[in-house]
Amino acid sequence: MIPDRAEIRLPHFADAGDAFETALAVAAEHLRVLARAALDAGRQEAGDILEVQALLVEDPMLADSVSNHLGRGHSLDQALDKAVSTLAELLAGSGEEVMAERSVDLAEAVDAIRRALAGVNEPPPVVMDEPGVLIADELSVAEAARLQPDLVLGIITRGGGPTGHVAIVARSLGIPAVVGVVGLSPASCAGSRVAMDGTTGEVFIEPDSVVWDDYRKRQDDFRQVTALASRYRGTRIRCLDRELHVAANVGGPADIELAQAQGADGIGLFRTEFLFYDRESPPTEEEQFEIYALAASAFSLPVVCRTFDFGGDKPISYLPLPDEENPALGLRGIRLYKDCNKLFRTQVRALLRAATEGDIWILLPMVSTVGEFCEIRAEIESVRDALITDLVPVGSAVVGAMVEVPSAAVCSHLLAQHADFLSIGTNDLTQYTMAADRTSGSLVDYSDALHPAVFELTRLSVESANAAGIPVSVCGMSAANPIASALYVACGVDKLSVEPSQINLVKANLAEMDVGQVVPVLRQAAGCVNAAELRQMAEDLVTLR
Ligand code: PEP
Ligand code: MG
Repeated sequence: MIPDRAEIRLPHFADAGDAFETALAVAAEHLRVLARAALDAGRQEAGDILEVQALLVEDPMLADSVSNHLGRGHSLDQALDKAVSTLAELLAGSGEEVMAERSVDLAEAVDAIRRALAGVNEPPPVVMDEPGVLIADELSVAEAARLQPDLVLGIITRGGGPTGHVAIVARSLGIPAVVGVVGLSPASCAGSRVAMDGTTGEVFIEPDSVVWDDYRKRQDDFRQVTALASRYRGTRIRCLDRELHVAANVGGPADIELAQAQGADGIGLFRTEFLFYDRESPPTEEEQFEIYALAASAFSLPVVCRTFDFGGDKPISYLPLPDEENPALGLRGIRLYKDCNKLFRTQVRALLRAATEGDIWILLPMVSTVGEFCEIRAEIESVRDALITDLVPVGSAVVGAMVEVPSAAVCSHLLAQHADFLSIGTNDLTQYTMAADRTSGSLVDYSDALHPAVFELTRLSVESANAAGIPVSVCGMSAANPIASALYVACGVDKLSVEPSQINLVKANLAEMDVGQVVPVLRQAAGCVNAAELRQMAEDLVTLR
C-alpha cells in the first residue's frame, strides 16, 4: 500500500506576510493537538517529535528566512521552498546524523504551514482498509503516528536511517520496519506481494514461492517463539548455578514502561542522553530528577543510568562541541565532562537525589584511562558532598565504568580496582577494536562482536571484574544474540541488558539451553580466525534441553 500525497498549491495572497504569520500560529497549534493525541494514545516518541515540529514552526530563523525571500519579491510558495532548502542545507551540511534528521522535521513542519495556508488542516491519513505492508519514499512522523498497528503489518521506506524517527516510531508501535532501502520504487510495488524481515533488513518484492514459504515459516516461528517466551515474564532465571539478570536498555519514560511490562530485571542501561535530544536546551535538574526517580521506583533491582554520552555519532545541537575530523575518536562521553562541567554536575545532582527512591547506579561512558575514571568519580563524590552540606537527601554513589574502548578492556584489571561495577558495551568495543565505523553500512562484515579479537577483550574484562568481586554486565546489542549471550554467561557475566522486547526471548533461550556446553569454546576462542568459526564452534556444542 502506498500513501497518496496530493501536492498543496497555494493561492495568491494580498498580504503574504500577514497570511504567513496567521498560518504559523494555526500550524503550531495543530501540530500540538496531534502531539497531545499521540501522547494520550501512549505514543511517546511520536508525541515528542510532533512537539519538536511545532517548535520548528515557531523558530524565528524560519520566519526570518521566509520574510527575507518575500522581501526579494518571491511568492509565498517560492519563499517557503527557498527557506526550507536554505535551512535544510545548513542542518544537513553539518554532516551529523541527528541534524540531518532534523531537516526531515523541518520539511514536515513547513508542510504543516502550507496546509494551514491552504486551509487543509491535516495531511490525509494513511488509510488502509485491509492489512498490508506500507511502502513509501518517506513517511512523515505525523503520518506514522496515526497508523493503525493492527492493519500495518510492516513499513518499508526508501529514505531514513535505522536511528531515524520513522524507525523509532515504528518500533514503539511494534511494527516491523525496514528503512533506507536503496533503489526502492514505491510506485512500481503497488499491489505486489512483499516479504520482509525487520530484524535483518531483508526485503523481497514479488518473492518466488521458495522465499515466500521461507518467510511465512520465519513469521510463524517468530510468533511461536515470542508466545512461548512470554512464560518467562517476571521470572528470574538461573544459569550455571547462579542467578542471571536480564535487564532493559531504555532511553526514556516510554521505554521504562515497556521494560516494566516485560518484567525486566531492572534497567541495565539508561541512555540518558536521549533525554537531551530534540529540544532547544538541556532538561533541568528537576526534570531529570523526576525521570530518574520514576525509573528507580519502578524496579527493585538496580537501575543503571549512564551519564550523557554525547559526541561521536551523537551530536547535540545546543552544546558547542568542537568540529572534529574524527568525532568517534574525539571528545565524547567522559572526555566531555570537564568542558561541560555544569551540565555534568546538574545531571549527577539529579541522579544522586533520585537514588533515594531506589537503587540507582551511575555508569560512565567511553572510559579509556583509569586516571580519567578516578578523576570523574572524585567529581561525583564532590557533588554528593555539596548536596549533603546543603542538607539535600541523597542516595549512595555507586559508580561503574563502561568497557567499550580496547584500552579499558586491556586495563580492566586496574579499572576494576576503582569501579563498583563494569558494563561492557560491545557495540563500541567492536567498532574500536575492529577500526570499523559502526554507522557505516558497508562495514557490517567487520562489525561482529563475536570476532575473536573483540570476544577476547570481552572475556578479559569479565575475568577482571570477577577477580575483583564486582558485578559485570554486557549491554551492547550482542547481549541479545542467542550464541553470544550464552558465551558471555559462560565467561562469568551476571547480567545482560537488552531492548525491552527481547528480554523474555533472551531469558527463554538461556533458561532452555545448557550454557555449560559452550564452556570449552572459551579455551579455543583465541585460535579462531573469524567470528563465523567461533560461532560455529559454539553452535555445534549447544543442544536445547
Ligand atoms: C555500546 O557501545 O555497546 C553501548 C551499549 O552503548 P551505545 O550503543 O549507546 O554506544
Ligand atoms: Mg557505546
